[in-house]
Amino acid sequence: MSIFVLGGGEHMLAFVTQASGEKGQLPVTMVPLAWSPLGAVIGDNWQRVLVDEDNVSGWVDQTFVPEDERAFLAPLGELDLLRRVGWKDEVPERLSEEQILNLGDLPDDVIDALGSPMLPIARCAACRRSCVKDEFIWQERQLCAWDWHRSVFGRRGPWRTEAYNRAQFSGVPAAGYVVPPLAEEAGAETLMLLGRVDPELAYDAVSMLMERLGDGSYITVSTDTGWVLLRERA
Ligand SMILES: [Zn+2]
Repeated sequence: MSIFVLGGGEHMLAFVTQASGEKGQLPVTMVPLAWSPLGAVIGDNWQRVLVDEDNVSGWVDQTFVPEDERAFLAPLGELDLLRRVGWKDEVPERLSEEQILNLGDLPDDVIDALGSPMLPIARCAACRRSCVKDEFIWQERQLCAWDWHRSVFGRRGPWRTEAYNRAQFSGVPAAGYVVPPLAEEAGAETLMLLGRVDPELAYDAVSMLMERLGDGSYITVSTDTGWVLLRERA
């Protein structure tokens, strides 16, 4: 299987598996993209649009506008060559480096994302950035990683000065992961990164640390890979 990437940007990547279509309409597959502090993410829920074959470059220019900092456009000369040889292939179910005829036209962070699993993509309720669905939810709002860190570790975050009891501990904020530099920017220092141990043990470790460290405001986060204890920066 082979595909040719036309371009991409903040929210989407567009590719074709043929260089011309029926009645001059070229089928283009639109793949959702999101950006996280860990890199780019390829979304599921691909869509197909039809683009006038004589205006592919115009369509690409309008779709991936220069105002979009993530925009990249592939030179389309190769597509003309592919048209001449009657190139046509199946639309793959997922993307991989090996399929992409013009891999060199893609930014490195998109190439890095190709091997990772496809994930559902949503929009951040605060900034409208594309982000991984359900990875960062705060007060029932879908947020991007950046806004989640700002909300949870900012002045109005769920800081606590008292020791947790076990019931309170089962209700600590949950998220995909914590990025210590983003927490730092928001006003929190990371004290402990704990792997995926059971909640009883995590509770004991957190309680012991909070007790020994004494005065301060703390937040524990339950993540996909374990537990993180942070303290509000004085
Ligand atoms: Zn956001």
